[in-house]
Amino acid sequence: MTPPTQTSLFRPASDSATRDASALSASRAKDSLIKEMDLEKIAQGVRLILEGIGEDVNREGLLETPSRVARMYSELCYGIGRNPSQEITCIFSEQTDELVLVRDIAFASICEHHLVPFIGVAHVGYIPNEGRITGLSKLARVVELTSKRPQVQERMTTQIADALMQQLDPCGVAVVLEAEHLCMSIRGIKKPGSKTVTSAVRGVFQSNQASRAEVMSLIRRA
Ligand SMILES: [Zn+2]
Repeated sequence: MTPPTQTSLFRPASDSATRDASALSASRAKDSLIKEMDLEKIAQGVRLILEGIGEDVNREGLLETPSRVARMYSELCYGIGRNPSQEITCIFSEQTDELVLVRDIAFASICEHHLVPFIGVAHVGYIPNEGRITGLSKLARVVELTSKRPQVQERMTTQIADALMQQLDPCGVAVVLEAEHLCMSIRGIKKPGSKTVTSAVRGVFQSNQASRAEVMSLIRRA
């Protein structure tokens, strides 16, 4: 579970159990604030769409569709009301102040303007501050949680950067997202294959042009 480079715990093991338990109960308390999704209401909406487009909602193939779509939305939108910085649940100490970059983290989100998917990859890098690093999978979890809500790519990019700044307080964060938006591919202008690229930089990547150029060249290296 713990990668070999992350052997030293940032805090002594004795408090880490207490910290984990209190983090868990805090996150449960937060979860209880999240509104339960009203699956029946979503299903009613789907029935109305089907009727609106002139379908027969009692046709055999469509009978289970409203409840199936409702369950799908609850999965695709489970991140509503959840703070992505809370996904960074472990912090390790390591003697490094060098760039940590995870490239090509696949994600699928939903465009809030059309409720159709946008699908792509995220590249997330940071420079640790005083040796504070987190598990690499936590970066992917932050991406995942920000994607699971009605989104726009620009906001998702800044939410990922801000989550890392908030929880890890690194010297700098750089986030680049590349995605294909189905609202551009299958409708409207109909340009399949076009990619939208967004970036957000914080800390040293914002203030130092050489650092920014270095991280961006590593991100772009295919
Ligand atoms: Zn759209």
